[in-house]
Amino acid sequence: MNRRSFAQSVGGAVALSALVRSSVLGESSSETPGKIMAITAHPGDGLFTMGASLAQQINRGGKGVLLSLSLGEKGAPKDIPAQRYGEMQRTATDKAVHLLGAEAKFLTYPDAEIPFNEEITLAVSDVIREQRPDVIVTHWNGSWHKDHQNCYLIVRDAVFYAGLETLTLNRPPHSVSKIYYADNWEDANNFVPDTYLDIETVRDKWLEACDFYPMWRGQTGFFRYNDYYSALTTMRGCLSGFKHAVALMSDAGQRVVRSRSL
Ligand SMILES: [Zn+2]
Repeated sequence: MNRRSFAQSVGGAVALSALVRSSVLGESSSETPGKIMAITAHPGDGLFTMGASLAQQINRGGKGVLLSLSLGEKGAPKDIPAQRYGEMQRTATDKAVHLLGAEAKFLTYPDAEIPFNEEITLAVSDVIREQRPDVIVTHWNGSWHKDHQNCYLIVRDAVFYAGLETLTLNRPPHSVSKIYYADNWEDANNFVPDTYLDIETVRDKWLEACDFYPMWRGQTGFFRYNDYYSALTTMRGCLSGFKHAVALMSDAGQRVVRSRSL
């Protein structure tokens, strides 16, 4: 059994070495990877759950950008003022994306109060039109966290607005080829991965990038992000036939296969 048939045997999933534009995912790993954009509610989510995908895309010759809708400042421990903590997270993100060869963008909406409205949706749409990604990775909506749920909704509509030829914004329209949802312990409700990305060559660098964050080793709360997310790549690797992997869930619209034979 080869890697692909093994992955298919565990739920019809596909195993990839990069995220690409082609609609036939299993056949497309030789294509040049395009630009990937991670859109996250909080900077930590971005690096911990989407950072390895960014790193892998860049390592394969693509480009990457991370857009955070807030600075995640309300995750501050008692002894650090929220505003200062937010700046610590911004600094950590700048260092982390620099290490991965990506770029960071921030919209700085208040943490825990990220709205879902036309203003933020158009702001995200403008960044999509500016950055022109082929692939977007973002939060799945099965989350207990309202910011994560709103991020999902914002991205859904921002992608629509970005590609709408008849909607005049500051920049020309841009259509995103694919949307994937990230494997996040806070967004686990009905998360069913169907795509496994081999991250072996970038795993060490990604773990090093995550270590810039003040909460990565559980310093600011109860959750040990480092143990969870590093172990998760081992578990997802077991399921996909890779040593270490990241699992992603495709947007429902791109799971449709058009074929003249089976
Ligand atoms: Zn979060």
